[in-house]
Amino acid sequence: MTLRLHNTLTRRVEPFAPLVPPRVTLYSCGPTVWNYAHIGNFRNFLFVDLLRRWLEASGFEVYHIMNLTDVDDRIIKEAGARSITIQALVAPFITAFYEDRDFLRLTPAHSYPRATEFVEPMVRLVSGLLDNGSAYQSDDGSVYFAIGRFPSYGRLSQLDKRELKSGASGRVSSDEYDKENARDFVLWKAAKPEDEAAGAAWDAPFGRGRPGWHLECSAMALELIGARFGAKVLDIHTGGVDLIFPHHEDEIAQSCAFTGEPEFARVWMHAEFLNVRGTKMSKRFGNITTPRDLRQDGVDPGAIRLLVYQTHYRQRLDLTDEALAAAREGSRRLGEFARRFHAAASGSDSPGFTGAAERLTGDFSTAMNDDLNAPRALAALFDFVTDGNRLLDQGERPGPAALAAWKLADGVLDATTQSEILEVRAATPGEEANLTDLPPSRPADQEAWALAWARRRLEVKKRRDFPEADRIRALLAGHGFEIRDRKDGSVEVARK
Ligand SMILES: [Zn+2]
Repeated sequence: MTLRLHNTLTRRVEPFAPLVPPRVTLYSCGPTVWNYAHIGNFRNFLFVDLLRRWLEASGFEVYHIMNLTDVDDRIIKEAGARSITIQALVAPFITAFYEDRDFLRLTPAHSYPRATEFVEPMVRLVSGLLDNGSAYQSDDGSVYFAIGRFPSYGRLSQLDKRELKSGASGRVSSDEYDKENARDFVLWKAAKPEDEAAGAAWDAPFGRGRPGWHLECSAMALELIGARFGAKVLDIHTGGVDLIFPHHEDEIAQSCAFTGEPEFARVWMHAEFLNVRGTKMSKRFGNITTPRDLRQDGVDPGAIRLLVYQTHYRQRLDLTDEALAAAREGSRRLGEFARRFHAAASGSDSPGFTGAAERLTGDFSTAMNDDLNAPRALAALFDFVTDGNRLLDQGERPGPAALAAWKLADGVLDATTQSEILEVRAATPGEEANLTDLPPSRPADQEAWALAWARRRLEVKKRRDFPEADRIRALLAGHGFEIRDRKDGSVEVARK
């Protein structure tokens, strides 16, 4: 059974084989750290996490690079508007990105190169392209890539060759442009006063300036895989579909013109967009959702992972309140089963669990090997939960095979709610005595304490005493308990 992945270069699902097995070099275009990354960006990073985890579960040794774009047009403009340097602008957003990554349980990359720390290899790349005639300098000192001298330009994005505009009449100096404006693109921008003011200008033999956005990824990827493995070609390069043109097209042109290799990456993989309630996320619609918003709403990261993986990465994903609520229930169900399942574990598998483990391992692997079909992999996992609950009801016990099957599937998807849900039931006699501001010292008594307060909070809410309700919520949060109001008016308490 071999892994097959969709390659944007060929628009086909193909068997995957790295250049030097078992090593896989994986480069992912990372965030531009000029604000909080939104859930659409993280959909793409969750796709990368799925790819990374499945490659590793399949025995590959992955070297994963994800860049942080800390200098580009938008960053300089924003820094200028706030009269600060680009370094000061990006620092808190880099911290926030790592926090969001950890919240969503994304496997950390091995390297997070920052563009401003790789200016030297960028300068070398531009010098090489000037030397071999692939690039030229314009009157203002900026350096452009001549697409007319790179015959395969447009292959990745399937551009119509007749539309290409090369030379002085067809140049583009901004980082972002569309297919209709495919033309010579900027590698190095001559320094302007606003760049100097923002701390975004560096010396180079061809003049002081700053890198264009597209140049950054090529230089960092080639530098890192070159230094580590002596390699010039990546096994897999990932990004969102919006990066196919011009970003990835330009990465290929400048990298291949520099290395002389036919490819920059052998497999190009792209994740589709995420819409919020049917509309593309944008400032205009005010529907930008970030992982920290979801975290504040008490959404478990397992539920977000479940929501994202229910849709194949090459299909558009629509984030709705209903879908999120369903994912929270699903993720909770996985968590409840996981606790029951592990508590019943024994030294050997009963016949029912032996069969269920075989089915899960087989169906899960078949689905993931088919271009990371996570929706089908999830279906296999939920089938196992249904079967498992029935088997447990019948007194059967899971053993090493069932545990290993669960570990494989849960280890890759990681969509299980890990916090424990405590049910708020009818009052018990003497409960009032529990309503102290400080919790009891024994953990078991703390649960009773939290539940008593949760019941009291329901009562004060009925009296519309919302300040007291908020105080109780904060009191519990301070001691590791989270109160979650459900749509049906009931409430649950989760131990974090
Ligand atoms: Zn990139």
